[in-house]
Amino acid sequence: MKRREFIILTGVGATSAGMLSACGHPEEKLIPALIPDDEYVPGIDVWKASTCAMCDAGCGIVVRTRDHKANKIEGNPQHPVNRGALCARGQAGLQVLYNPDRIKAPMKRVGERFSGQFAEISWDEAIKILADKLRDLSAIGKANSVHFFTNDRRGMTAHIATRFMEAFGSHAYLVNRLFNEDSAISGFLNSYPFVNKPVFDIANATFLLSFGARFLETWHSPILYSRAYGDFRRASGKVRGKFVQVEPRMSLTGANADEWLPARVGSEALVACAIAQVILREGLAKNTPDANFIKSFEAYSPENTAALTDIAAEKIIRIAREFAKSDRPLAITSSTIEMTKSLASLKWANFLNLLVGNINQKGGMLLLEKDYTFPLAKLDLPNGFSNIDYFKFPMMIADRPCEILMIHNFNPAYVVPATKKKLKTIPFIASFSSFMDETSELADLLLPDHTSLESWDINYAEATSEFIVNLTQPVVKPEFNTKQTADVFIALSRALGDKVAASISFSSIEETVKQGFTSFAKKETPALVKKKAAETDAEEDSWKPLSEKGFFINKLKNNPAYELESHQLLTNIPLTDSLLSDAYEDQEYPFALLVYEHPTLGVGEQANLPLLQELPDAMTSVMWGSWLEINPKTAAQLGIKDGDVVEIAVEEVAIGGDLRTIAQFEPIQLPAVLYAAIRPDVLAMPCGQGHTAYGRYATNKGVNAVVFTIGSAGNKRGILRAKVKRISNENKLIRFGTNLPEHIEIKR
Ligand code: SF4
Repeated sequence: MKRREFIILTGVGATSAGMLSACGHPEEKLIPALIPDDEYVPGIDVWKASTCAMCDAGCGIVVRTRDHKANKIEGNPQHPVNRGALCARGQAGLQVLYNPDRIKAPMKRVGERFSGQFAEISWDEAIKILADKLRDLSAIGKANSVHFFTNDRRGMTAHIATRFMEAFGSHAYLVNRLFNEDSAISGFLNSYPFVNKPVFDIANATFLLSFGARFLETWHSPILYSRAYGDFRRASGKVRGKFVQVEPRMSLTGANADEWLPARVGSEALVACAIAQVILREGLAKNTPDANFIKSFEAYSPENTAALTDIAAEKIIRIAREFAKSDRPLAITSSTIEMTKSLASLKWANFLNLLVGNINQKGGMLLLEKDYTFPLAKLDLPNGFSNIDYFKFPMMIADRPCEILMIHNFNPAYVVPATKKKLKTIPFIASFSSFMDETSELADLLLPDHTSLESWDINYAEATSEFIVNLTQPVVKPEFNTKQTADVFIALSRALGDKVAASISFSSIEETVKQGFTSFAKKETPALVKKKAAETDAEEDSWKPLSEKGFFINKLKNNPAYELESHQLLTNIPLTDSLLSDAYEDQEYPFALLVYEHPTLGVGEQANLPLLQELPDAMTSVMWGSWLEINPKTAAQLGIKDGDVVEIAVEEVAIGGDLRTIAQFEPIQLPAVLYAAIRPDVLAMPCGQGHTAYGRYATNKGVNAVVFTIGSAGNKRGILRAKVKRISNENKLIRFGTNLPEHIEIKR
């Protein structure tokens, strides 16, 4: 019996047979022990290395498989990002693979459009339907009315689709998801092009000042930074770091801080400016801008800004001194703070880093060599795909002719529900979703993608001073009759004639990944790897250890040029007058509304996973639904008790302080949670629920808070103002310990 060797680890994790049976897995299926394939030894655990795809952090995983089934995911102990750890989202990867609501085969619409009636077809027929449609449009000169959108930010799908779409005569778009920290950072960095994407050396800092960065939950790379935070707090051999969090609503990360500064919503940048002003006027800065700049900065003193930030001047002065005098101070910020002043917050938090001189220093902000940021460009594939923010999607399809829409890993009918009407006017929609989500319900053709544990891919991740190229490889055979979307594009390219076929030289995504990954590791071109592979067994020899490990590392160097150039920023940084004018008082809508990313359900992508629905929120213990957080004092004034159903009405006002209403939203009702760690003038609610489709575990659970993040005109929103009133005392909250069967109905 031939047996392929993989990384085999023992003694990690526990059996998850219960989890599999909970997913309705057919345990009566007979295993063909007499004719095993080369990956299969009956009854023996085989651990296979791959990459977690549940967020963009790129943690390494090892998956335990037995008898052709994956039954446990653990962190890869060798991987520099997570060093063996895995978060709840990562653990839930098995419930994507074995989810009972997966689309199990390609399907075409058979009833009226939008009736939700589909019939199973073969892959040959599905690809022919789409290829014929594309060919017909191309023949009448309308190739550019075909559009492809994907959310797949770090993988190969966008690259292969881009190559295909360019050869066909149209465009592929990479959509930045809501709360995407990277995309906002790119916007910031575009203003200062000499600066590379920063990495933060939290582990070695001695004073951490965070402006809304939820680094223990959702910020950038949660496991990487959670581990770094553990090192930051560890007293052995060094001073225990001090941590101050600035945010109007205390997050789980804020709850771990030594001090919480509940600044007014949207005033975080002003807090950073006030701290900077103290550092400048007291001569505590290591790098000092010119005298004119310092003078012009006086307006931002703690005394002048206290009324706007609601943080006492004495407190700001004390924290500024502690920060600047600490051995290794570090400021970090969320680029999506309430999604209004995001760039201003980024700029001024990083200005603090410049003042205290921590750029490319131990415990500071590391600006690393630029070369690493786009490794996939080194493959023989294009890197010029168009990058758009999710809120621009409605404008994209409204502004240009669209005869065929192809959607992958993106659900606009959920994240931008106002766009549903426009989607219905598009003559043909093809969805590559693995699940019947809100957008797939509107489709004419369903081409279900493999899940990540069945797929091939290359993507990348950053650790503190390392750049990691990650391999995704199938750990099991496809559970259903699905096909990886990249392979669908390769098949379409072959069906559309020589010019399009020539755009993708690889015969499959498997071949692309094997040769691409090997070429990265060996620093050879994919073409050379391909040539050598044809001549010898060299490819198999180099592929085997790489695939067993699942990643490889490039050590990164700090780029001294960035340090030099960053000093110029001290004098070039423009002051923003509007910072001082953004005080919002509105009698009719007296509260600011914060909409935040759910720690485990994300922006609703993971709402179809029962493990994550079942996981109590760490701050409120709520499960299986939405909630609105209200300060108990505010609630008492409004006669609202914990668990009461309340109605919230929301309007969006333009940034700039003139309170010009730019959007109004339908009121929604949801349960109230009395939450002491929130400002009395702020309401908060998490995203992640409110699906009207997306399987039995997600449908009709809670409300969709994402609707408030985008104006009805399809614009990025300004400031959200809200009013709230009590509707009833019916307690619909499901909390840890609630008797679930009484509260929850799951349609099967
Ligand atoms: S942090 Fe992201 S990539 Fe890492 S295990 Fe969690 S979900 Fe997966």
